[in-house]
Amino acid sequence: MTKHYDVITLFPEMFDAIADSGVTRRALDEKVWDLKCWNPREFAQDKYRTIDDRPFGGGPGMVMKAEPLNAAIDAAIRRQQGLNREAGAGSEANKPKVVYLTPQAKPAKDADIRRLATESGLVFLCGRYEGIDERLIEARVDLEVSIGDYVLSGGELAAMVLIDAMVRLQPGVLNTAESAVEDSFSPAREGRLDHPHYTRPEIWNDHAAPDVLISGNHAEIAKWRHRIALERTWKRRPDLLEGRSLNREDLKLLEAIKSGKP
Ligand code: SAM
Repeated sequence: MTKHYDVITLFPEMFDAIADSGVTRRALDEKVWDLKCWNPREFAQDKYRTIDDRPFGGGPGMVMKAEPLNAAIDAAIRRQQGLNREAGAGSEANKPKVVYLTPQAKPAKDADIRRLATESGLVFLCGRYEGIDERLIEARVDLEVSIGDYVLSGGELAAMVLIDAMVRLQPGVLNTAESAVEDSFSPAREGRLDHPHYTRPEIWNDHAAPDVLISGNHAEIAKWRHRIALERTWKRRPDLLEGRSLNREDLKLLEAIKSGKP
């Protein structure tokens, strides 16, 4: 079933970046997902198509007005409900969640992306300027998501980050060679980051690729990759290993790594 993603944005053209390139483009062509952008300016009622105004109480910057966003959200939900009806699914049951991209939410983790990726459709609300009138957020937003503890100029890049991360998890999107199962954070990796990768030439700028990878010994290669993945996780992101019950072999391996034993 195609995943339906609607985006409320003042800059629809930014989404060409995921619609026109790479894995997300291929998946779009194969109808794994579809995309419809709605510009709130089209829903503004006055002749100047005003979508922002000065903040009540004063202060710098502008605030996105509630009503054009409200009407754009309605249009997005109507589109998805229409598509669900056509597909024979109940429209009310499949009412998409409205996701507001905001730096004020907890930064999304892999598990959050996997949960969002199971939704049949989502409506992403991209803020700009100082943000959005809080009353619109209270009335219409089901979920707030951040992509990290820093402030972007708008929600568009954050929405694209989420869409890209969700689309690559859909069945059939990645071929075996690209499989998301081997990627960092995949539940199958049990906390270990991905191992480092090398390709031809064997010696580049006087640096040789690890011998074991050229040995053709698949058991040894798997052992090496397992160890180095554990080692770099311990060095770079020990938090990913905390609270995990490692099996006896990995515990021994980790002890060896910590004490610098080969
Ligand atoms: N004044 C807001 C604050 O300090 O929380 C920041 C507004 S920011 C300049 C404009 C818009 O960018 C926000 O409304 C939000 O949609 C988006 N945005 C900024 N940083 C983000 C982040 N880390 N994750 C998701 N969206 C973000």
